[in-house]
Amino acid sequence: METLEFQAEARQLLQLMVHSIYSNKDIFLRELISNASDALDKLRLAKLQDGLEADTSDLHIEIETDAEARTLTVRDNGIGMTRDEVVALIGTIAKSGTAELLGKLKEAKEAKENPELIGQFGVGFYSTFMVADKVILVTRKAGTEGHGTRWESAGEGTYTIDDEPDAPVGTTITLHLRPKDEDDALYDYVDEWKIKEIVKRYSDFIAFPIRRVSSGDGEPEVLNSQKALWARPRSEVTDEEYHQFYRHISHDWTDPLEIINMKAEGTFEYEALLFIPSRAPHDLFQRDARRGLQLYVKRVFIMDDSKELIPDYLRFVKGVVDAADLSLNISREILQQDRHIQMIRRRLVKKVLSTIKDLMSSSPEKYATFWREFGRAVKEGLLAEPDNHKPILEIASFATTHGSEPTTLAAYVERMKEGQEEIYFLTGESRSQVENSPHMEAFQAEGYEVLILTDPVDEIWVDAVPEFEGKKLRSIARGTVDLKKDEEEKEPEGDFAPLLGFLKEKLDERVKEVRLSHRLTTSAACLVSDADDITPALEKMYRAMGQEGPRVKRILELNPNHPLVAGLRAAHERGAEDPALPDTAELLYGTALLAEGGDLDDPARFAKLLADRLARTV
Ligand code: ADP
Repeated sequence: METLEFQAEARQLLQLMVHSIYSNKDIFLRELISNASDALDKLRLAKLQDGLEADTSDLHIEIETDAEARTLTVRDNGIGMTRDEVVALIGTIAKSGTAELLGKLKEAKEAKENPELIGQFGVGFYSTFMVADKVILVTRKAGTEGHGTRWESAGEGTYTIDDEPDAPVGTTITLHLRPKDEDDALYDYVDEWKIKEIVKRYSDFIAFPIRRVSSGDGEPEVLNSQKALWARPRSEVTDEEYHQFYRHISHDWTDPLEIINMKAEGTFEYEALLFIPSRAPHDLFQRDARRGLQLYVKRVFIMDDSKELIPDYLRFVKGVVDAADLSLNISREILQQDRHIQMIRRRLVKKVLSTIKDLMSSSPEKYATFWREFGRAVKEGLLAEPDNHKPILEIASFATTHGSEPTTLAAYVERMKEGQEEIYFLTGESRSQVENSPHMEAFQAEGYEVLILTDPVDEIWVDAVPEFEGKKLRSIARGTVDLKKDEEEKEPEGDFAPLLGFLKEKLDERVKEVRLSHRLTTSAACLVSDADDITPALEKMYRAMGQEGPRVKRILELNPNHPLVAGLRAAHERGAEDPALPDTAELLYGTALLAEGGDLDDPARFAKLLADRLARTV
């Protein structure tokens, strides 16, 4: 028997384990099972690739507990290790990351930060010392003759290594559990339910059976389902299996609308299984709702609700990502910065968006359901991801004045009138409010199609999206509108100049300009925003969020062909001192505001002016 010293770094790491830097001690079992699973994979591979003679008919992992002796044993019949390998792999820390880990930990300690931050680094086998005060490892390498190796340590400075004559092929690791600490409420890892719970939680999809053997009673029990659906070819999985899995991870009892499988090979391997639900969860727009995907590393469960894998606007997507090359101990903090995670996220987004696009032609009904349920959330992506404007706009649809069915932008562009260069839209609170808005009049009269945008998010993204297929998006409530190309039909502004000036003076507090309109056919007046100003709806939203800004003045446009406007001009010409004129100006402004669904500053005053005026006509 030989007694050896741990390499300095290994000793430091062990110290940390003994003093338990992780609050979650359960992970030691996950680490052991993951190592065992790797060893089983390696044996199978060695047989296939190198022609190693080995029995691979019953590759498995066993967990045995002995409550009296307070031991827990994890056994695999995988590749095993030679004596040299045990010394090299277990006695030293081969991984380059560990030196970095120790450095970071020291920094964190000095800065008195939470050492949980360093959870990204694999601690693997050494994590056993969080729960054990003695660990015995017995192993024999597959394909070797003679004895195996026995390694033993209390996790302090040294370990012993010796030959073990009767070791079977594979590795057996026995933990002598620390005495149960009453205060610490340290779980008792000899409890059957505890073992079952940990395996189910972290290792359910490990591809090999994990069996619990208890001394005495008969048949071993298999603790894991082994079914990593995402790793199986789609043709081999039934819809029912997918649906069951979806229910399991989403708690949604409706079958999903669409299932997406992804597999990437090469420098960074991952598999993903995503589901698009067929209906929106009730909390889709609640900020504290659960969202994100499940993250696995090589079939080992790492975490739920990983928001780093999918952007917020696709928060309704459920599923699993299984990445091959991440550390089992990757933390949320690290996930946010991890280059590979960002790459996976980009690919998932692309795939989800392209899947929806395919649905548009392959299954218009499914697409319609999708957009009805999730369109509002997806449109947030126009704000969040400028790079994805195009694919998001391509799958979007909008209510339109062209019929009762929503339209895509591509279909709108196809229908655009000769000479029309922009995509027209109007935002508002409801379809009927938008349809009946005075802004709509000339567009309707001239037969221009206008998109009807009534979701709150529409007010915001329209400013962020400059164009679609080279066509600008243009609010018909902003800037000037000139649909008549024929100059002769237009009313000369000059005749109205005195009236316009008079109104501007009277309404100065509320409007920045009064001008003649080319967008009205039946209404007398309307209010429009300057092309660069924020809209009243947006102003209202900001105010609701507590951001009080300066009032944005709008522009009052008059319809020169309306009898009221013509009459007003005549009255003004007769005498600017007419005492009824200021009231008429106010009524005109108030009516324009009401027509677009706006709120009057002083409704009581408006009602009084109107009643007085009506009293004179009855
Ligand atoms: P990691 O698994 O992150 O590489 P560990 O400290 O857990 O780090 O293990 C170090 C190495 O020891 C593994 O990479 C593997 O080569 C070897 N090893 C650990 N457990 C086993 C096992 N059950 N069978 C064979 N080799 C093992």
